[in-house]
Amino acid sequence: MFSDILAQYDFDTMTMAINAVSTDQVVAALAKESLSVADLPVLFSEAAGDFLEPMAQRAAKLTKERFGNTMQIYAPLYLSNECGNSCLYCGFSAKNKAIVRRTLSMAEAEAELQAIAAMGIRHMLLLTGEAPAKASLDYIAEAVRLSREYADFTAIEIFPLDVAGYKQLVEAGADGLTLYQETYNAERYDSIHPSGKKKDMKWRLDAPDRGAQAGMRSLGVGPLLGLSDPRTDAFFAALHAHYLMTTYWRCAVSISLPRMRAAEGCAVIPQDVPDKLFVQFMTAIRLALPDVGFVVSTREAPIFRDNIVGLGVTQMSAASATEPGGYTAKNVSTAQFQVEDSRSVAAFSDMLMSKGYEPVMKDWDAGLKVGN
Ligand code: SF4
Repeated sequence: MFSDILAQYDFDTMTMAINAVSTDQVVAALAKESLSVADLPVLFSEAAGDFLEPMAQRAAKLTKERFGNTMQIYAPLYLSNECGNSCLYCGFSAKNKAIVRRTLSMAEAEAELQAIAAMGIRHMLLLTGEAPAKASLDYIAEAVRLSREYADFTAIEIFPLDVAGYKQLVEAGADGLTLYQETYNAERYDSIHPSGKKKDMKWRLDAPDRGAQAGMRSLGVGPLLGLSDPRTDAFFAALHAHYLMTTYWRCAVSISLPRMRAAEGCAVIPQDVPDKLFVQFMTAIRLALPDVGFVVSTREAPIFRDNIVGLGVTQMSAASATEPGGYTAKNVSTAQFQVEDSRSVAAFSDMLMSKGYEPVMKDWDAGLKVGN
């Protein structure tokens, strides 16, 4: 389990090690023919920020070799914004009484799926908060079954389950599991999750292991950058991905590094993660983990998304709604975050094609699935 690996590290010690990296260490790391996850503390350092250009060139070459000129396109489908947790950084927190909450009926979920499919996207990510009384495991399994009628690939981003729970979703047709650890800093994790089931860090940390054991073919991990030291959180996310890739070699593993934004009514002020630092993380991860997927959502601005195509990113969302019911009606409930890139799928695809990239609306791996 990944919690056993993480227990071998101390977050603050790793932060100090990253902060102490010298230019000579960066030069020595970049002189290697191939890099590994052990080089990431060096590549994530402030000193490595001066080497962004050669890192980006190398990352672009590796991305092209491993993934070709393609970009996977997916759409998030928020089934529910109800939540019993009180994460101090999230607008969906149970403590936030100001938001409009909603859990879609199956008919409403189907209408959303139809709207996404009509845009040409056949890769769905189904999301909920953590409120099993409103959006139960059976409810989510039913939504997964429905999604299979409109999608070639269905992933879930929900509360952590046990192996039996994940098995139920795999049997319903779920292909992938995305679960953000938020932060790998145990002390910080404890302080920003004052109550609710999410307070149990280990339960969350080992959820991707349980998903893989239940038969999920695709696993996505990442921190919410800005909750703690971003360089150290990015390192542990990469370590987590590397662990999953080597332990569950049948699974495709991806990393995402969403940058936290201050949410209305939330006390946590995020640490700033400038664009340049984000690009440093992304290119460093490509150098150390050439085969890992890298996901970027519409929470990033259009100009930034356009500029990072080719540098390591392999999967992007497009034309996303982040509130339940948002594809069929606007302002029917409160969104989790403000979408920055609101371009249509066609406009986003045109941008990709102008750069020589082919937008891929389905997951071709699904065609290789045993029994599919
Ligand atoms: S981050 Fe997730 S678990 Fe926490 S309050 Fe928001 S929706 Fe609920």
